[in-house]
Amino acid sequence: MQSLREVDVRDKRVLVRVDFNVPTDKKGNIIDDTRIRESLPTLRYLIDQGARVIAVSHLGRPKGKPVDEYRMDKVAEHLSHLLKKPVVKVDDCIGPKVKEAIEAMKPGDIIVLENVRFHPGEEKNDPEFSRQLAELADIYVNDAFGAAHRAHASISGVATLLPSVPGFLLEKEVTMLSKVINGAEKPKVAIVGGAKVSDKLSLLKNLVKNIDVLIIGGAMANTFLKAQGYNIGKSVFEESLVGKAREIIDYARACNTQLLLPVDVVVADHFAEDAEHKTVPVDQVPEGWMILDIGPETVKKYQEYIDQARTVFWNGPMGVYEFEAFSSGTNGVARAVASAAAISVVGGGDSLAVVYNLGLQNGITHISTGGGATLEFLEGKKLPGLESCDCRQQLVG
Ligand code: ADP
Ligand code: MG
Repeated sequence: MQSLREVDVRDKRVLVRVDFNVPTDKKGNIIDDTRIRESLPTLRYLIDQGARVIAVSHLGRPKGKPVDEYRMDKVAEHLSHLLKKPVVKVDDCIGPKVKEAIEAMKPGDIIVLENVRFHPGEEKNDPEFSRQLAELADIYVNDAFGAAHRAHASISGVATLLPSVPGFLLEKEVTMLSKVINGAEKPKVAIVGGAKVSDKLSLLKNLVKNIDVLIIGGAMANTFLKAQGYNIGKSVFEESLVGKAREIIDYARACNTQLLLPVDVVVADHFAEDAEHKTVPVDQVPEGWMILDIGPETVKKYQEYIDQARTVFWNGPMGVYEFEAFSSGTNGVARAVASAAAISVVGGGDSLAVVYNLGLQNGITHISTGGGATLEFLEGKKLPGLESCDCRQQLVG
């Protein structure tokens, strides 16, 4: 992977694809600026090197036409505040107005283009639209890891037309996520939970093949417990995936990967915050009750494996953590991951929320910003955004 540091960017027009797709309220106010802050190392570096920095991103789903709610003005304003320097916002992302703004730039200046998804050519990876983006710049930098799984013009097409390098965030994500799959720091332990086996079937398969211990929790554990012949009462599970769960159990055995399931669970008489609940051994779920969390014995057992790991990956809550009575399993695993001596990597929207709510972020080596892109990377899929930036070497294994 060629590094941004090896490229001479001084005075050059550098088009940077960033992920400024931040959550906003109905008025377009930014609710969480994490993604903007994650792009700062690359943007600051380019500014310091005297590049003319042209930042481009999508925001929301405007579906190929301008939508006021998804304009980049507030993002540009916030970026200016974070960088402590003026940021010019241009009201389009291609065409004469944009070219004019770029011509007026001095080395070290930065502009933010309008939402790239206001043009239908973006999501279609239209060659003509890609060409119009490419003609704005001399060099292309892709730092939008969160959009790397999209074969869109500003990610894929434009990279075939300009000299292209990954930005620092993209590079960091690839390096850290590769450690989970290809890393040599063993034992490697993955904890996967959350709502559905169906969301994460490919993830489970690829993990089983590449790690030493796979720990399962959350609603997805129910499907596995069912596959093992346990009575799980009224618990949420996926009938059609019981067979797949059995295949994963067999595959783990064939790969010599240990697969751990809950030994005790917290059950409730119905799905509610204040439902009657109790902890029972996994083979004693009462008829008509539902599993909403892993039990304390299970947390203890999982923690022992996490403590001994040298690489840990965690994605997906162990229970219905949104309800306090069913949050202990998730919180316990989150704390174990954060206090482990291992290289720790966490991904997934709900899992990140838990890490931040408990203030555990400093204990985690890498908090992946990717969402869908993170999962697809760990599934072993080829991501268009990495292919185009020549991150291929990192993917082999
Ligand atoms: P992430 O966003 O971290 O990838 P998911 O979106 O896959 O995680 O799953 C999170 C959801 O799974 C949460 O809303 C949580 O309530 C739900 N969940 C976890 N365990 C259970 C369970 N035992 N029964 C029902 N829902 C569960
Ligand atoms: Mg989620």
